[in-house]
Amino acid sequence: MTEPAITVRAFFEKARGGQLTAIRCGSCGGLSMPPRELCPNCHAHSWQPVALAGDGAIASFTVIRVAPRAHAADVPYAVAVVRLKEGVSILGRIVDMPLEKLAVGLPVRFRPLIAKDLTRMQIWVSVNEADIGSVHADQPVSFTVDARPGVVFHGTVTKVRFDATMTQNVVTYPVEVLALNPEGLLYPYMTANVQFELDKRTDVLRVPNAALRYAPPTTDQVAPDVRPQLDALAQRGAAKDPASGAKETKSKSDQGLLWVQDGAFLRPMTVRVGMSDGALSEVQGADLKDGLAVVVSEDWQSPAPSGAAPSPFVPQTQTRTR
Ligand SMILES: [Zn+2]
Repeated sequence: MTEPAITVRAFFEKARGGQLTAIRCGSCGGLSMPPRELCPNCHAHSWQPVALAGDGAIASFTVIRVAPRAHAADVPYAVAVVRLKEGVSILGRIVDMPLEKLAVGLPVRFRPLIAKDLTRMQIWVSVNEADIGSVHADQPVSFTVDARPGVVFHGTVTKVRFDATMTQNVVTYPVEVLALNPEGLLYPYMTANVQFELDKRTDVLRVPNAALRYAPPTTDQVAPDVRPQLDALAQRGAAKDPASGAKETKSKSDQGLLWVQDGAFLRPMTVRVGMSDGALSEVQGADLKDGLAVVVSEDWQSPAPSGAAPSPFVPQTQTRTR
């Protein structure tokens, strides 16, 4: 598969500059606009760009009196299918012409019209009633769109609206989010997957939650000098009940226990556990430092070094958030 001669992105960029571009099928000669993968006539995949003059005539039109929210302030206005003289049709909005003068066959000319300032995009988010209490104006949000995999966009809540809707007994509230779009990666009508930032910690150390759940299965692995204190430690940290360790770290206590290497043994380290995003947790402790290796699980595949307890180390780098 080769790329079409002109991409959708290039098409819109040229159109913004005033130049309409169609693509001509190298197989059947048919014109197509905007660019697409396969010729709609013969399904061939062979394209040449063709510059269009932009002159045409109204083939049909409709006057919009009830508009989508983004255009609600503009009603009434007309959109028309325009047959360009090159033989291809384009849908556009009629401007600079009284609506009552519109007629099929009326000559019109393409003009790029930036309907909105696309460097600032508004996002409409439906928020469940159970969560709406956590959302407020000026709250930061991050979001992704399917068209830009791997790119995280950022925005700010501008308004929580009260015109709720109910669908299948679920009440949702519309929340308006403003996002900057300086690179033009966001297009109108894309679907955004939005995350609201409920709380934030900066410059903290984080460990995988598995590290807070871990406990050595036998005391043989624990540094001999701390073995007598294990029971007391277990009262305070995750080692209390390894079987239900996941729940244990979530208990009222903010104490957690990490295990670090000490020669051939493991040494416990008591830490304060803070916020968690479900995979990583914030930890604080006098002996913690960035990059410290903590035990998250045991690797039974590696044979134990002779004369020592099985080595349960899986290096885990702690990371600093911004
Ligand atoms: Zn064709």
